[in-house]
Amino acid sequence: MAKDSKNRCSFCGRTEDQVEMFLGTNSAFLCVECAMTISDHVRGYFGDDLPKPGKKKSKKADATEALLMSPREIKTFLDDYVIGQDDAKKFLSVAVYNHYKRIQAAKNAGKSEVELEKSNILLVGATGTGKTLLAKSIAKMLNVPFAIVDATVLTEAGYVGEDVESILTRLLQEADYDVERAERGIVFIDEIDKIARKSDNPSITRDVSGEGVQQAMLKLLEGSVVNVPPKGGRKHPEQAMVAVNTQNILFICGGAFEGIERKIAQRLNTRVVGYGAQQKNERIDKENLLQYIAPQDLRSYGLIPEIIGRMPVLTYLNPLDREALLRILTEPKNALMKQYERIFALDGVQLTVEQPVLEFIVDTALKYNLGARGLRSICEAIMLDPMYDLPGSDAKEFVVTLEFAQEKVTRFTGTL
Ligand code: ADP
Repeated sequence: MAKDSKNRCSFCGRTEDQVEMFLGTNSAFLCVECAMTISDHVRGYFGDDLPKPGKKKSKKADATEALLMSPREIKTFLDDYVIGQDDAKKFLSVAVYNHYKRIQAAKNAGKSEVELEKSNILLVGATGTGKTLLAKSIAKMLNVPFAIVDATVLTEAGYVGEDVESILTRLLQEADYDVERAERGIVFIDEIDKIARKSDNPSITRDVSGEGVQQAMLKLLEGSVVNVPPKGGRKHPEQAMVAVNTQNILFICGGAFEGIERKIAQRLNTRVVGYGAQQKNERIDKENLLQYIAPQDLRSYGLIPEIIGRMPVLTYLNPLDREALLRILTEPKNALMKQYERIFALDGVQLTVEQPVLEFIVDTALKYNLGARGLRSICEAIMLDPMYDLPGSDAKEFVVTLEFAQEKVTRFTGTL
């Protein structure tokens, strides 16, 4: 069949007489329909902040472009979202500040100066004390891609489970596959304690989800070019790999390290034998040993020295007491109570929750050992009926009394 000589849109192949408008040069053509689709995509990506011709600028200023906030400012930002955990916030603020300063310095100075090493972070603290929240808040502040991954699903390559490279797949997805943006992102690896070596003797059986994963993870943490399956997993063997450089990706790891207090206590006890031992011992807060955590405790717990070395910033989170839980209910920028007030306000209802109710919610969470995460389910149990009944009614105000809350929660705790 003879090839027709009509001009065709380089994208969809339609000919000039099939569309209302046709743009073109000598070698490439664009029909109005494709032009409109492209325009939608561009506007969807950049919003009103369209790029200036000739200048490459990312959609939003991110940490590496915006003026760096000082560690103090970073901590103040975190204070808006996370209650307490001052030590962790301080460590994190300094580490994040240094991390992005390091990226800027490398950009400005080339390779000549002292090379600043990257400082990945390890947060140790019981579940539900704010580790993920801290990492999330940092990413929000910096406006960089942020991915949360769970270390429990990782196994050594070739075994059932996910390869460590899948960690970066998540980050790529969060960055809309913009590799450059992903390369400045933050990854939060949760439950890192679950990849601790399972036994002191590494050779008893093959430890595919423990030491093997730690070994595999080293190359991500230290900064190297990793081939990432963009769709993840092994279900898409045909996919072309994307090379991602992890040099400037900040890894924040979190874990509960259940039972590590025993290792800390052991170390503290052996260290303080001898002259002055009595005195030192008295100053140790036995109720919260996590605050004394040191790299050697992680080693006794089953992390390999190389991986500990790749997470030079080590800090801890405190258990949340009654006062902290009360503050969590009302103080953070998006505190639960503020969220409920807002939900009701959208229906024109002013919500008031009496102080004894807040205390009752916290005491219930403590009684059933639900931690900060449990606050939400208790609140939901209390608010469900009003959230069901009030929209569409004439009510302008709703007061949650202790009696009302107790009745709703009794039904809820009955199922616990
Ligand atoms: P972790 O990662 O330590 O297991 P999360 O950060 O996921 O815990 O916390 C679970 C939820 O509990 C958070 O979404 C948040 O609502 C609340 N929370 C926990 N700790 C704090 C805190 N220190 N300040 C404010 N909210 C908190």
